Amino acid sequence: MRKKVQQDPALANVCVKLLEDSVRIAACHWLSDMSVKVTGGDETASDTASSRVVATEANTEMWTVKVVGLGLVALSLTLELLVWFLRRLRPGRTLNEVLFFPSEMVCVEHIFTPSSPYSCFCSMPHGVETSFSRLLRRILSATSSLDLCVFAFSNMDLCRAVLALHSRRVTIRVLTDKDYTAITGSQIGVLRKAGICVRCDVASVYMHHKFAVVDGRLLITGSLNWTLTAVQSNMENILITEEPELVRPFIKEFDRLWVNNDPARYHRSLDQKPALVIARTND
Ligand SMILES: [Zn+2]
Repeated sequence: MRKKVQQDPALANVCVKLLEDSVRIAACHWLSDMSVKVTGGDETASDTASSRVVATEANTEMWTVKVVGLGLVALSLTLELLVWFLRRLRPGRTLNEVLFFPSEMVCVEHIFTPSSPYSCFCSMPHGVETSFSRLLRRILSATSSLDLCVFAFSNMDLCRAVLALHSRRVTIRVLTDKDYTAITGSQIGVLRKAGICVRCDVASVYMHHKFAVVDGRLLITGSLNWTLTAVQSNMENILITEEPELVRPFIKEFDRLWVNNDPARYHRSLDQKPALVIARTND
């Protein structure tokens, strides 16, 4: 139940509201009961002939009122504490974002150098938020890892973002299609030269994915190749989400492809080929 409530903000809000209302109603009932008792005490006192008894009754009523008052204060404090505790249990908002391309051509220098946002004097518009600038921010938010699985990678700003993460010691794994590593402007060589681990898919079909997982928690996926044409000219889409049910399968698929395309695997298979040839020759 607690897991369900944590996963569903709407359900958590309803639970909190119900609990708040229940406690308030209980407090009202209790106060009403106590008031009746106090009023009943008045009638008893009026019916008694002896003034001493009346004084005792009045004293009792005063104490009853004090106890009721203290009880209400305690109840109010308990209620506040309960509400505070339940609010702490409420899950945070899960990030979900959709971006569409082509993206307007603007300067993104300030995203790479946030400490000096007015340092660029190029002719492009500055300080404009676009789909591309939002994508860059999401990628640059990585603090521990970036797993990138992309068919074509030639966008220099995206390459700069990956290199910036590499210089911050973020663990980066890049998986790409072997036929597209050598296209004009491909940045795969630049990444490799910088010491970033890149593996090429060796299957007979295209490795046509375009997704990235940031810090094992944020998924960036959609139709967008990491190329200048895709960003500036094509109609593309990107979904950015922290939904664990969506992120998890992509992590699993990346790990599967990463292991399947381990160069050590196909080096072993190449090593085996001469052995087979020798065996046949000997036959
Ligand atoms: Zn600029």
